[in-house]
Amino acid sequence: MRHLEPLAAALALVLALVSARADGAEPARLRFDPQFVLAQVAARLGVRLDPAIAPPAVHLESATPLAQFRAAIAAQWGFRPHVFGNAYAVERNEIYLIDEPGYYARLGRSPDESLAHELAHYVQVRYLGADLAEPSWEAEAIAVQAWFSAAHLQPPRATLAP
Ligand SMILES: [Zn+2]
Repeated sequence: MRHLEPLAAALALVLALVSARADGAEPARLRFDPQFVLAQVAARLGVRLDPAIAPPAVHLESATPLAQFRAAIAAQWGFRPHVFGNAYAVERNEIYLIDEPGYYARLGRSPDESLAHELAHYVQVRYLGADLAEPSWEAEAIAVQAWFSAAHLQPPRATLAP
């Protein structure tokens, strides 16, 4: 490690703290590989994945310009959203995923759960011929999300101590 004079070291620390703040908190990270989540979701929906059907690209908010998200989703939603959101863009076969940690902290959720939800929409559209304008598909995606969370993200129940 390089030796620093105490004042220089203190300045370096202050600068590091300032730049960390300026960049905001670290993005929320996916705990699972999207391939794993897709396999789980497909199995839950009774679908056998076909290598000839392209999986969706996943774009994280922290690495994606807002303009790209807006352009990808405007036609599908019928408006140009002002903020980034979790979504499956059908035309482009792309999933957009919020990874701002405060969003998940507020909801008590994780990005993996949201990824499972959007992957359910991918499977519905690409394998089951879904039109996402029909509300029952949303209900199913919510159910898949809840199942994935219970199966993979929530800690197992503690055994009852005597
Ligand atoms: Zn949905």
